[in-house]
Amino acid sequence: MTETTIAAIATGLTPSGVGMVRISGPDAIPVAGAVFRPVSGIPLEGRKGYTAAFGHIHDGPETIDEGVAVVYRAPRSYTGEDVVELSCHGGVYLMERTLRAVLAHGSVLAEAGEFTKRAFLNGKLSLDQAEAVIELIEAGSAGAARAALAGREGALYREILNVQQSLVAEAAHLAAWVDYPEEDVEELTPASLEDGLEHSRQRLEKLYKGYDSGKLIRNGINTAIVGKPNVGKSTLMNLLSRYERSIVTDIPGTTRDVVEESVQVGGYLLRLADTAGLRQTEDKVESIGVEWSRKRMESSDLVLAVFDLSHPIEEEDLSLLRLMEGRAVIAVLNKNDAATPEDCRAWEVEVGKVISNVVVMSARSGGGLEKLEEMIPRVLGLNRIDDSAAMLANERQRDCVKRSLDALEEAVQAVRLGITYDAVSVCLEDAVSPLMELTGERVSDVVIEQVFERFCVGK
Ligand code: GDP
Repeated sequence: MTETTIAAIATGLTPSGVGMVRISGPDAIPVAGAVFRPVSGIPLEGRKGYTAAFGHIHDGPETIDEGVAVVYRAPRSYTGEDVVELSCHGGVYLMERTLRAVLAHGSVLAEAGEFTKRAFLNGKLSLDQAEAVIELIEAGSAGAARAALAGREGALYREILNVQQSLVAEAAHLAAWVDYPEEDVEELTPASLEDGLEHSRQRLEKLYKGYDSGKLIRNGINTAIVGKPNVGKSTLMNLLSRYERSIVTDIPGTTRDVVEESVQVGGYLLRLADTAGLRQTEDKVESIGVEWSRKRMESSDLVLAVFDLSHPIEEEDLSLLRLMEGRAVIAVLNKNDAATPEDCRAWEVEVGKVISNVVVMSARSGGGLEKLEEMIPRVLGLNRIDDSAAMLANERQRDCVKRSLDALEEAVQAVRLGITYDAVSVCLEDAVSPLMELTGERVSDVVIEQVFERFCVGK
């Protein structure tokens, strides 16, 4: 348990209905009690955990606001310490004033992520579960939120722990077999050892291989809409943007100054980057279209290649198609409302010779959009992913699993080559320790600092 009592505004710093100051630590209840007076007259100090009181927030003799105080008693709280959540009206001034009053009565301002860090240090969460808290806050789509919630509830933790336990059991069996041959230890053959290790290796490999797909679910799908001028790229873009309009967002790029338009399609976030560029090309000569398309495609996870059904297929269309080989691409045959069924069929046949994922639609009317929506996860293989199952959520976790996998592969190799069981034991230790680092069971302070640096203050 830590000595200090920390406090911070836990809600966003924008005017809103309700704002909340969270206080955690040994003096959380007396600190809150010094600024909050319940109308019932029963002081916070006399209350049980999981109870709420209505009252007034004071700063010295001055009443700042009315509010609600929720008391949590250690260890039954988010941090595992005594916690009070003081809710006031969500005005920025009111929240800051409430925080100042709380800080003046024996608490210090929490550092970024300190509440969650304390939860981790007090054993309420594993390190990967703590990381899932950020994922949850940052989730921008249904899939991302589901994956984060599964992580928060321990799907990855359980899987890693499971593999770790079976590796530890193998190591123990190995040690017993080597060190106490005279005892009644179950026989350990190279084949049975290899089987056991191989089973764990496969489980880790499955996690490792799923990382990139998981990333598309969590971070969104970088999508390029390409095609010649006037085929309907902007119209398609507008159609997608209108779709679920309420959650269309402009997310400023984190690493570049480009503004990305993000749209939700079928529970996934499509990041349609550099939309200004998309519109600019309308003014450019046609030949630039292909060069520009090539550049856009290189940095994308998914390409929507748009073609105009009301025009006959041309050599340039075919050259655009050939650029796409080996990519996750959907050919959007647009303007079916302006083409005859025969023309549509002819286009479909030609395009289908190069690309297997073809949608015939009208970006203007929206007809056929549901087919596009259904095809996107399929082209990326996302429909085969259970986003509530164990999934690696970031580079740190991926690196841990990679190191464990490498050591396990070495162990399996050592068994196959008939190398001494001592050497196999060493490899097994090397395989277990990155897994303990992943869950935070055995991890350096530096890594812990790095994990919680990503959090905001108040979380
Ligand atoms: P871009 O240059 O590829 O971005 O093409 P635009 O989206 O600007 O569209 C070019 C023209 O095609 C505009 O006049 C659109 O209204 C029209 N258009 C786009 N989609 C459709 C469609 O599905 N059906 C028809 N009939 N016209 C369309």
